[in-house]
Amino acid sequence: MKTLRSLIFLAIILYIFALNIFFSINRVFSSVFYFVSLTVIVAVVIIMETIYSFAVFNHMHAARREKEKMQLALSDLQLESLLLKTLSDIIETFGEEISIEDVLEKIADSLKKIFRQETVALQLMGENFKKSVIGRPLDLPDSLLTSTALKPRPLLINNTKSFPQYAGLASQGITSFIISTFHHKRKITGIIGVFSFDNRSFTIRDLDLLRMVSAPTSLLVENTELFEKTKLLSITDALTHLYNRRHFEEVLEKTLAESAGKKTTFSVCMADIDYFKHYNDINGHPAGDAVLKKISGIIIRSVKGSDIVARYGGEEIIIVFPDTSKENAVKICETIRRRIRDFKFPNEESQPNGDLTCSFGVAAYPQDAQSSEEVVKKADFALYKAKEGGRNRIIAA
Ligand code: GH3
Ligand code: MG
Ligand code: MG
Repeated sequence: MKTLRSLIFLAIILYIFALNIFFSINRVFSSVFYFVSLTVIVAVVIIMETIYSFAVFNHMHAARREKEKMQLALSDLQLESLLLKTLSDIIETFGEEISIEDVLEKIADSLKKIFRQETVALQLMGENFKKSVIGRPLDLPDSLLTSTALKPRPLLINNTKSFPQYAGLASQGITSFIISTFHHKRKITGIIGVFSFDNRSFTIRDLDLLRMVSAPTSLLVENTELFEKTKLLSITDALTHLYNRRHFEEVLEKTLAESAGKKTTFSVCMADIDYFKHYNDINGHPAGDAVLKKISGIIIRSVKGSDIVARYGGEEIIIVFPDTSKENAVKICETIRRRIRDFKFPNEESQPNGDLTCSFGVAAYPQDAQSSEEVVKKADFALYKAKEGGRNRIIAA
């Protein structure tokens, strides 16, 4: 078009030039002829310019449409690549030793990248009632969870205020949301939702994206739960549900390293049931097992969550009190001793001292020992002294 326009302009200039030469040779100067020629030239120029402008306008319009199409395709590609990245992140997590809380947080975080600006919530159902929310804090009402569980179809709600059953969400400022469920053996194990506080209009495509993420999420959650259960089994004692000796030894090493680093004290207590062989002989081994379980429960309920209680040997229980002085550890052991003494165990009157009791030996790091083996040895020796001293007592190293 541009070339044609230039050619026509060139032709007009040549034409005017030729005319002038012709007129000057033939000495013809008719004003009418000049006027007609000029009019024709101006008309041709105007028509040419109009056609040109029209063509340029059409061209620009087509280019703009093409640009819009390309932008849409680009954002589709970006979304697909984010989805692929999210799915590959989830798959990668399968090989990692990661807690269920971290799994939920990681998936919620990945989804937040797909649904920019929105709040993502994952909630597990059943015995493992854990949740993770990335974005603005929100509270998923029980009614939403139960109604989602009853109708295991994905939900897309674009105006919460129009639905009385979502008033709980609307009152938190949530304007629209999508929710998908995930299952294990046809049972719903959790929900995954994206919530907007800013009138976002969710589409079926958004729901499809969410569904695509919820399938691997379900597998990952199941895998992690199984892994956590197996791990817990490997570090706990089957009878008492206390930690086992191997785990205790690992914890002790860590506690010692931390104490050495922070220059703090920690204490260790070794507890042993008095005349337990006698109790077993009189009442039978199953009755002895029940006593062991009961005493474990009493100890667990008497210490802090950060203290570690483990079954050290047959009927020996060991406790690690991080960041605790020997005096304070002795005080806690005194409470435990009294609780065991005061508890009415079946047929305890037949015990040599007329009661079922425990003895305790306490030692502290770095006061009494410089290594983990030594601190256990010192606590064990103190326990021996407690037995020697008449049992049902606490001796500190
Ligand atoms: P004391 O500690 O007061 O010196 O006397 P004791 O009779 O408790 O002596 P000892 O510690 O030597 O005996 C440990 C007994 O604990 C032997 C065993 O019958 C019993 N025992 C160890 N593990 C278990 C267990 O898992 N279940 C039951 N029922 N008994 C156990
Ligand atoms: Mg013993
Ligand atoms: Mg004993």
